[in-house]
Amino acid sequence: MKTDKSYAQHLDQQDNLKNFRNEFYIPNDTIYFDGNSLGLMSKRAETTVNTLMNAWKTYAIDGWTEGKHPWFYLSQKLGKMSAPLVGAKPEEVIVTGSTTTNLHQLVASFFQPEGNKTKILADELNFPSDIYALKSQLRLHNLNPVDHLIQVKSNDENTLKTQDIIDAMTNDIALIILPGVLYRSGQILDMEKLTREAHKRGILIGFDLCHSIGSIPHQLSDWDVDFAFWCTYKHLNGGPGSVGGLYMNEKHFGNEPGLAGWFSSSKEKQFDMEHTLTPAGDVGAYQIGTPHVLSAAPLLGSLEMFQEAGINHIRQKSLQLTNYLMELIETKLTDYNFTIANPKDESMRAGHVYLKHPEAARICRALKADKVIPDFRNPNGIRLAPVALYNTFEEVWQMVQILKTIMDEERYKKYENKRGVIA
Ligand SMILES: *Cc1c(COP(=O)(O)O)cnc(C)c1O
Repeated sequence: MKTDKSYAQHLDQQDNLKNFRNEFYIPNDTIYFDGNSLGLMSKRAETTVNTLMNAWKTYAIDGWTEGKHPWFYLSQKLGKMSAPLVGAKPEEVIVTGSTTTNLHQLVASFFQPEGNKTKILADELNFPSDIYALKSQLRLHNLNPVDHLIQVKSNDENTLKTQDIIDAMTNDIALIILPGVLYRSGQILDMEKLTREAHKRGILIGFDLCHSIGSIPHQLSDWDVDFAFWCTYKHLNGGPGSVGGLYMNEKHFGNEPGLAGWFSSSKEKQFDMEHTLTPAGDVGAYQIGTPHVLSAAPLLGSLEMFQEAGINHIRQKSLQLTNYLMELIETKLTDYNFTIANPKDESMRAGHVYLKHPEAARICRALKADKVIPDFRNPNGIRLAPVALYNTFEEVWQMVQILKTIMDEERYKKYENKRGVIA
């Protein structure tokens, strides 16, 4: 029977990626389904942090150019390692900044209001940081965000319709910023089609890949996306505050960055110390200052695992995991008022399942007490992310079992239905 534990174990035996689990530290006896918020630490990430700590110890200032991973070229090296995950050329990707600072950099570089083209198009479901950044960028141009930031509406609180976004691409829009995957419902937006439609109307378009990188494949170059940015601590397992990523389509190479600094410089010219910037001829121009070497270090180890596993295999297993999770929810948890609020269609479903329930906050607390780590999202969402590199089908089975017991015994009623500080 598909609902038996033995079936889950059978799926685990057949899993080609199963050995990667041994590469991670799984916090004691927990079922960790929060890898889309903070990915787990891997032994390889630990090793590469130690390698760079030792480079500091051994080489001091010469670490910039000596050792296994010279710091001066680290951002480029990590960009090259990330490029296959977004479907870009190596020189189009750099590891630098954070999601929000990269967004500021990109809007500062590409939002050039002119004539009646003065508005930015976004959506009402995006993560707040992106929206705050867009509003503040508009204010820097003396434009009122109330009428210059257009946010596409959702009909169901969870998802966006491609056609609604296209309809909002009116001729007063200069720039579009959208998530590749929505952080709550996990809906994948049709980045290829949206890019084509934006370009038909002479609008530049960029995507926030925080919830899609490391979870689904992308073809940014083929889709002709103008730019993209992401964090690396979610599916990429780079550790708390690990350095972000930035993609720039090569057709935009050679421009001055909106926010310049000495790391925007062409590497050959950087130490000439001139007061006129010669920007790097590639994506490197969008860096600002000295790279956060120690916060980039874990990525050397963790990205290597993505290279070995391959993003298509990761995607395949991820779909299997979320499919299995939804099947179990639909057969075992029918009587408890849960709604599956993520798109079920595989072309629109990313790496997590989004359950809605009026008691979501305290159900999450009860799950945590039983050593299952979900992710609560205000006001009534439970995100469950079984991660291809380290979660198992058996954990999915166990988690549903535990949730069923919590509901049967109404164990969640012991807790207040309020969120904690973080989630
Ligand atoms: C996680 C996330 C962020 C976080 O931004 P930081 O600058 O890394 O703090 C921003 N936007 C989206 C869509 C996210 O999912």
